[in-house]
This record gives sequence, C-alpha cells and structure tokens, in this order.
Amino acid sequence: MCSDSTHRIAIVGAGIAGLACARVLDAGGLSVTLFDKARGVGGRMSSRRLPDAVLDLGAQFFSVRDATFRRAMESWRNAGAIAPWPTSMWSAESGSWQRHDDDLERLCGTPSMSAVTRHLANGLAVKAETRIEHLEGSAGQWQLVDEHGERHGPFTGVVLATPSPQAHALVASQDQSLAATCETVIQRPCWTAWALFDDPLPALPDVDDDWQAVRLNDSRLRFVVRNQLKPGRQHQGESLSLLANLAWSEARLEDSEETVVEALLDAFQQALPAGTRLPAPSALGAHRWRYAQPDVFAGGEAVNLDYRLSASGLALCGDGWRGPRVEDAWLSGHHLGEALVAKFT
Ligand SMILES: Cc1cc2nc3c(=O)[nH]c(=O)nc-3n(C[C@H](O)[C@H](O)[C@H](O)COP(=O)(O)OP(=O)(O)OC[C@H]3O[C@@H](n4cnc5c(N)ncnc54)[C@H](O)[C@@H]3O)c2cc1C
Repeated sequence: MCSDSTHRIAIVGAGIAGLACARVLDAGGLSVTLFDKARGVGGRMSSRRLPDAVLDLGAQFFSVRDATFRRAMESWRNAGAIAPWPTSMWSAESGSWQRHDDDLERLCGTPSMSAVTRHLANGLAVKAETRIEHLEGSAGQWQLVDEHGERHGPFTGVVLATPSPQAHALVASQDQSLAATCETVIQRPCWTAWALFDDPLPALPDVDDDWQAVRLNDSRLRFVVRNQLKPGRQHQGESLSLLANLAWSEARLEDSEETVVEALLDAFQQALPAGTRLPAPSALGAHRWRYAQPDVFAGGEAVNLDYRLSASGLALCGDGWRGPRVEDAWLSGHHLGEALVAKFT
C-alpha cells in the first residue's frame, strides 16, 4: 500500500522496456502499475505455447554490449532465466552452408524467451488484457481509459513503452511535441512462420546434426531457428521458427497466414543442400508483427534519443528511441526509470 504522497506512475506496455522502467521505479520507491493489451508480459519477447512445444516468434536471442545491461543480464543468469545460445550457428546461400563464428556473446531465455520478462515482472502490478485507448487529464492528474471505457488513475506520470505508432495514438491529443517525435520513427513489420514436425530434419552434409540456427541470404527468409535445441526445451520435437525478411514482410503484410507459411517453408527448402528434403510438417502457423523493428535510420541519420520525458509527466521509451535490439529497449526503459525517480523523489 502506498501513502497519499507517493507518486503513482502508469506504464503502458509490459515489454522489456516497460518492465525495465518499472523495476527502477519500484526500487526508487514510486508506485507503478503496468498495463498491457496482451494476455501476459513480454511484447516482442513473448513465446507461443502449444501443447507439445514452445516457440519464440519474436526476439530469438539478445547480445550484450553495455556494462549496465551486462550487470542486469548476470542477475538474470544467476536466477536461471537465461542461458547462452546459439552455440552452433550457420549461414547459408544457394544450398551452401558455412559455420557462422564470431565473438559476440548471445543469450536467450530459458525455457522460453518470455522467461526473461516473466522474471522482470515478478512482484510488479501488471494489468494484462487491458488495452489503453486514450489519455485524459493534465500534468500530475493523468487518467488512462481502456477499451471498455474504464478509467484508471489518477497518475502523476504516464510512460508509453510501446512501438512509436501505438505511442503516437495515445499522445497525439495531449502533447504535440511527443507526437511529432513519434512520427520520426518508422516501425517495420515482420512475418514469423512456425512449423512442427513429427520427424527430425534430415542430416545435412558437413553440417552439425545439432545445428541450432541459420542465417539466410534470401529475398524471403532471413533466419531459421530450431526451438527444441534452445536451452531447457529438450522435451519437444522438431520445431522451427522462420523469420521473414523485412522488405518481403512489408510487401506481404496483408497476405494470409497460409500463403506466408507456404512461401517461407519453400524458401527454407530452397536453402537446403541439393538432395535434402524437409519432412511433412504436422502443424503450421504464422505471426504478423506489424511493428517489429524500428527503422532508426529512416530520416538519414540514426535516431538515438534514448527516451523522452515531458514536463507534464508523459514519457516515451522502447527500442524505437535507441536501436532495434532487446538491449536497446531495456536501456531506454532503465534510463527513463532513473530520470523519473530523479524527477519525482
Ligand atoms: C521477429 C522479431 C525478431 C527479433 N529478433 C531480435 C533478436 O534476435 N535480438 C534482439 O536483440 N532483438 C530482436 N528483436 C527486437 C526486440 O524484440 C525488441 O527490440 C524488443 O523486444 C522491444 O521491446 P519494447 O519493450 O520496446 O517493445 P514491445 O516488446 O513491443 O512491448 C510493447 C508492449 O506494449 C503493448 N501495447 C501496445 N499498445 C498498447 C496499448 N494501447 N495498451 C496496452 N498495451 C499496449 C504490447 O502488447 C507490447 O506488449 C526482434 C523483434 C521481432 C519482432
């Protein structure tokens, strides 16, 4: 229970950015409530749970460059929420497969990518399945109105931790300057297909049997991941995530799921060495990410605002303000959290 003098902050969006911000606010003694339209937390780090498999359809792994993010990552590793992955990465072009070795440390959630965001959400107040449709009020007295017309508030500050077009829809009537900032960041779409197989994939000549991921040089498909070879998922059978190219996704945004799955599986078949055939899938599907990746170079120069905080207590954070990776989204939310604690305590 918070006292009357405690500042209350609402965060719209319980992806990694909103959760990073919430953790700092909570540690700083502010009262925080997260709202998300989805059934759970995670946003683009969420995973699809099927009866026999867990599939990561958004972020597949994350890398670590920043020292502050590294400290957070170490605590998630100690809590068992993440593990190194992939350890067997390949690249393929016209049926020729090469091992892809570099020095970049990559990690993923265990037993699913959403383990990271579930870990971060522990102990926080999260209102799931609550789509915020508009904001009302003014500085220090913000109300959030959801899709059923229910009002939540008042809040001293409101953080919009969503892709820029979704933040724009909420700030447009309240803050012209923040709305204009939202217009500077384009979020590009991405289709991800998935396929389950009763039989394992065929062995590929001169490639590890346990290859985990392959990058493709193809106009349709850019990345294929074997979910059952991610840490903590040994129980599941052959289960692929197939991530489409962004330009191809843009052109096919309104295509049906069936058309997309067929095209991406065909692209993967074409990428296999001659003479190897994919077995028949036992289940298929696709997920359309309408706002998958910020084009931070859309205006010619890289946008790196980190976050935005207005005098009225409205704020923006997320990957759109920093860069297209999990690490960028986390840093944006974390830095905004620090700025809000400094402003309100
Ligand atoms: C296919 C794909 C592959 C990727 N691969 C990688 C990768 O391998 N490595 C990497 O580092 N990054 C990757 N990324 C990028 C990474 O996933 C994102 O940068 C990061 O997850 C963004 O986090 P976020 O918190 O800023 O936004 P999000 O995760 O999008 O969170 C925003 C949240 O806001 C909620 N929301 C939106 N509007 C409303 C509203 N009106 N009311 C309530 N809730 C709302 C949404 O439901 C969502 O949960 C990938 C992304 C995609 C889509």
